[in-house]
Amino acid sequence: MSISIVTEKAQLSPLNAAKRPAPMEWTRNIGIAAHIDAGKTTCSERILYYTGAVHKMGEVHEGTTVTDWMEQERERGITITAAAISCAWVPSMGPFQGIKTRINIIDTPGHVDFTAEVERSLRVLDGCVAVFCAVGRVQPQSETVWRQANKYRVPRIAFVNKMDRVGANFLACVEEMRKKLNANAHPLYLPIGAEENFSGLVDLVQMKAYIFEDKAEDPLGLHPRIEEIPANMAADAKRYRDALIEAVADSDDVIAEKYLGGQEITVQELMVGIRKATVALKFTGVIPGSAFKKKGVQRLLDCVVNYLPNPLDIGQTRGQDSEAAEVIAKADDSGKTVGLAFKLWSDPYVGRLVFVRVYQGQLKKGQSLYNPRTRRSERVSRLLLMRAMDKEEIDTAYAGDICAVIGVKDVITGDTLCDEDIDIRLEPPSFPEPVISMSIEPKSKADQEKMGNALARLSAEDPTFRTFTDPDTGQCIIAGMGELHLEIIRDRMFREFKVEADAGKPQIAYRESITGKAEAEGKFIRQSGGRGQYGHCVIKVEPNVKGKGIEIVNEIVGGAIPKEYIKPVIEGINEAANNGTVAGYPVIDFIARIVDGSFHEVDSSELAFKMAGIFGFKEAMRQAKPIMLEPIMKVEVTVPEEYQGEIMGDINRRRGQIQGMENRDGACIITAHVPLETMFGYATDIRSLSKGRASYSMEPSHFEQVPASLLTKIVESSTKAPART
Ligand code: GDP
Repeated sequence: MSISIVTEKAQLSPLNAAKRPAPMEWTRNIGIAAHIDAGKTTCSERILYYTGAVHKMGEVHEGTTVTDWMEQERERGITITAAAISCAWVPSMGPFQGIKTRINIIDTPGHVDFTAEVERSLRVLDGCVAVFCAVGRVQPQSETVWRQANKYRVPRIAFVNKMDRVGANFLACVEEMRKKLNANAHPLYLPIGAEENFSGLVDLVQMKAYIFEDKAEDPLGLHPRIEEIPANMAADAKRYRDALIEAVADSDDVIAEKYLGGQEITVQELMVGIRKATVALKFTGVIPGSAFKKKGVQRLLDCVVNYLPNPLDIGQTRGQDSEAAEVIAKADDSGKTVGLAFKLWSDPYVGRLVFVRVYQGQLKKGQSLYNPRTRRSERVSRLLLMRAMDKEEIDTAYAGDICAVIGVKDVITGDTLCDEDIDIRLEPPSFPEPVISMSIEPKSKADQEKMGNALARLSAEDPTFRTFTDPDTGQCIIAGMGELHLEIIRDRMFREFKVEADAGKPQIAYRESITGKAEAEGKFIRQSGGRGQYGHCVIKVEPNVKGKGIEIVNEIVGGAIPKEYIKPVIEGINEAANNGTVAGYPVIDFIARIVDGSFHEVDSSELAFKMAGIFGFKEAMRQAKPIMLEPIMKVEVTVPEEYQGEIMGDINRRRGQIQGMENRDGACIITAHVPLETMFGYATDIRSLSKGRASYSMEPSHFEQVPASLLTKIVESSTKAPART
């Protein structure tokens, strides 16, 4: 990642500066990620308010927030769907002081069942604000989101919210971020007071204090008093500023040299250092505040602009061409158009919106956009910039922008949309495998018709939600990330599509994989009368790193298989991997290499090579020591100490493995990995084991090999071999 450090006043990038409404350096594409209840919705609301996007502050408890678009989200009080909103912020300090910068906020969901939404958002973000609760601190889901942000290399700053609540402890939260998340976390501000006495912030960069006055004439906290650091905090402020300097010195030679030489470091130098270290993922600055009490959010926005990367910092985005060779999209307005559809949304007024992040070139109204997945082009009829309360019609979106496209219909989340004369598919986000499935039966003939349409729409919007027909029973199966995920899908079917359906019992979504290497030939040769069929390939398989999914590599050199037949072989391998050889479950985490083959001038066809791919993969898999995998959940139980023994014994009986135990304020927090297969009905069991005093949370963690003792049972009961579509 190259870093464009803006030092003096923000400078314009030279790219079409005349045409662009604003240079790329003035844009931030950010997400807000948090554990449920940490205050993400309240923070987003405040941000929208301060940035002038809305004129009335929404309150979560009134059910009026703009980011919670969907009805049932309001009812459940959780944010499921990521909405992208553009707003403007004029920082009060730093190189962008006085400049109207654009912050595009991609809202990310908080509930564990929807980590795929988080993951999908992270893919298109350049930076992220992680919101923590000053009382609950680092909760299990924060760890998941953090890991995902690491995976996508998203630079972060952290907001420790709810400083006004009883039990709020800013420094303990920073410490937990270091311990649990392995983050190089340091305060950028110190809170003045806590709980009901939380009354201001000490700015460790500029070394001054912001005092919140709670004055009647400033009900929104827009004008804090700025003054000297309180005398009783001066020593702490110096100590934490020194620690901050030391933490970023590693990433910045100027600071390192001055620091070692005992020289004074200027505000500007320190800001550059913090920015470099943040963008390089070596540092996380932490800001305390209370969104609810309207304290600290403006400072957070200053930090977003000053420290989080702009699209130019990210620079390059990797993709592949149709023959699996690497192609790069550059953050440059003058290149061919390359964008990623990261979110579909049905707007009641304007219809189907496709949210697109433009990675390269310009996206124009009226332009024809090519979709390499469907191999078709569609015309962009309108382009919109989504604001919280309204939409702005625009003619052009530039590299680094996020916009909503109308007119492009045949698209699913993760599709690349580009100019017709460029051959590129951006790396689609990798989504976790579903862990649970259930059959679903429409109540009437009329429901049946509507259900097909509803399921197609819902699965296009949400890649972790899958739907297929069980080939044996003919039943429709839906699969997703947890019971709540599927429950919400059913709820949406009912509300938005008016489909009434009965659901079967939840089933485990097993997977298959391989543990050895093998090489096999796939041949599809028919030569009896008329035109024959000839497809032949040699496929090598080996296990992939856990969680990395499927990689198919074309290693053909010298034209043993002509170019046009490589794609059908890849399709064949993908199709074969839908139904593994152990019990017919999808195969994951393998690398397949197409290494050799042959063709016939007349008889070869795409179909013949696809069949050869299927046969070749199946045979290679059979030889590569295949195994069955089951989903393992990360379970966290909070229980009074007196019930600790019971809960742990029960986890062991469920084939669980205790990962850790921690005592906090008289309660014991047990974390464990437990097979999902043993977790049905846990909510009821844990209640009776602890007389209702334990609580738990659970999220998909990874897949593990099914023990031999269970394998036969699973294979026998699943001879129906579900096929995914
Ligand atoms: P989300 O689930 O992360 O989106 O969290 P919400 O924004 O919905 O907040 C969860 C609850 O915490 C709501 O009842 C909020 O009113 C409350 N809340 C949010 N921020 C603060 C804060 O700074 N202080 C206090 N005391 N409560 C807050």
